[in-house]
Amino acid sequence: MHTQTRRWLFADQLGPQFLDTPDQPVLLVESRAVLRRRRFHRAKAHLLLSALRHRAAELGEQAVFLQVDTYDEALEQVDGPLSVIQPTSYGADDFVRERGIAVLPEGRGFATTREDFAGWVSGRKRLLMEDFYRWQRVRFDVLMEGAEPVGGTWNLDHDNREPPPKRATLGLPDPLEVVEDEIDAQVREDLDRWERDGLVRFVGEDRPRWAPVTRTEAEAALAHFVAHRLRDFGPTEDAMLAQDPWMAHSVLSPAINLGLLHPLECVHAAEGAYRAGQAPLNSVEGYVRQVLGWREYVWSLYWHFPRDYRRRNALQAHEELPEWFRTLDADGEVTANCLASVLRDLRERGWVHHIPRLMVLGNYALQRGWDPAQVTAWFAEAFVDGYDWVMLPNVTGMSQHADGGLMTTKPYASGGAYINRMSDYCRPCAYDPKVRVGPTACPFTAGYWAFLDRNADRLAGNLRMRQPLQGLTRLKDRQELVAQEQERGTSAP
Ligand SMILES: Cc1cc2nc3c(=O)[nH]c(=O)nc-3n(C[C@H](O)[C@H](O)[C@H](O)COP(=O)(O)OP(=O)(O)OC[C@H]3O[C@@H](n4cnc5c(N)ncnc54)[C@H](O)[C@@H]3O)c2cc1C
Ligand code: SF4
Repeated sequence: MHTQTRRWLFADQLGPQFLDTPDQPVLLVESRAVLRRRRFHRAKAHLLLSALRHRAAELGEQAVFLQVDTYDEALEQVDGPLSVIQPTSYGADDFVRERGIAVLPEGRGFATTREDFAGWVSGRKRLLMEDFYRWQRVRFDVLMEGAEPVGGTWNLDHDNREPPPKRATLGLPDPLEVVEDEIDAQVREDLDRWERDGLVRFVGEDRPRWAPVTRTEAEAALAHFVAHRLRDFGPTEDAMLAQDPWMAHSVLSPAINLGLLHPLECVHAAEGAYRAGQAPLNSVEGYVRQVLGWREYVWSLYWHFPRDYRRRNALQAHEELPEWFRTLDADGEVTANCLASVLRDLRERGWVHHIPRLMVLGNYALQRGWDPAQVTAWFAEAFVDGYDWVMLPNVTGMSQHADGGLMTTKPYASGGAYINRMSDYCRPCAYDPKVRVGPTACPFTAGYWAFLDRNADRLAGNLRMRQPLQGLTRLKDRQELVAQEQERGTSAP
């Protein structure tokens, strides 16, 4: 008889590292209530169910796999004690603790535990990502020569973040294609049936699954990225091309967030490519910064920020999200080429890279004063890699500035000039990024000034906003512009 405590694996804890020994008994629960409560992207629902069912099939008799309505229903059917690795949301954490289930510290899906971060925070006045990242580099000995960073500098941003090349695509091989199997066919059939029966509702298109759901698929996808795309990651990491949604991004966030890849494994693979002379330092450092810096920082801040963080609304933004945005179904309605193109990409895949998220979707919501809690919930539902821990700091904080500056020193609001510099969206657009007022006024440029006008008092104390706010006072057409944007309201731009 097996004496080890059964490990309850949540749907984002599917890699082998979440078990203490390879033969530990497992509980896996597919809860339909989770899907019923919210309107997820179809690709996300597919990914989660497919990943859970693939793990259950791999584990065979080692796992009790329960397909039920609620977690409580599942727990009634399991005998004996359970343990879990630190769940990744407050909701799940409360749930297991209230039921007396043993919680083990994190360290399996992330490199940083809550205790590690508390130690780093202790005695610090400012929690800068750059300082955290350097601490991570040193303690994990990543891209280091003794006590010094490889190449003599910690930050190669000046070699990265360039505008896109003047061609339609980067011309790189696409991310590794995954092949659907009979488990995916069953998932598709179930989702179709539940939708037909009115039990669930989705946004987005049902296309062939593109993200890994097994450890084997994830390992292959990581190896493919390192071999074929990492080299070009740095210079184009902030650029956008209408015909090239993937650019040189890893598109591994769904697999890492499902727990199929450990972040340090990704970091070591990238460093290995640099040490072997297969990828330049700027690209490798840029990638390591994202994974060992940003991802771990965001995860740690989720637990570090006060519990009421999700209810913050420092800019008093209360507008409802319009239906054309919420449903991603805006073809023909949206004239703004950047927004139309990004919404289309999102509808097709449930994924776009960080700049369309921040500078197109998030920027538009911020400019229009949409309710930050609704925006955060929308991001979590529409993105295949969206989870509570990643949403709160990234969306509520960084993108919507609802925390009043805990996460970033100034709001990420910007006009069409940024989008014009970093993409090829503007050339064929009916609007002109340089025009503020009139029929060709770019909604991002006009929206930026209208945002400043609406929040001038709230932002007046922010030193980094002094210059833009002075610019606002010099606008001759300010009144006309504000009236124009009020008139636009929530209609599709
Ligand atoms: C408004 C907004 C919403 C976001 N929502 C999510 C989300 O729901 N899920 C999610 O995983 N990431 C989110 N991010 C972070 C980032 O956009 C995605 O991780 C990235 O685009 C995923 O694509 P990729 O794997 O190709 O990333 P790459 O560009 O290849 O970057 C490498 C890895 O770095 C990590 N990473 C980089 N930045 C962040 C960050 N800010 N937070 C967390 N991880 C990061 C991811 O694991 C990613 O796979 C969001 C960022 C913004 C600005
Ligand atoms: S002109 Fe404005 S609306 Fe059109 S693509 Fe450029 S930024 Fe977007």
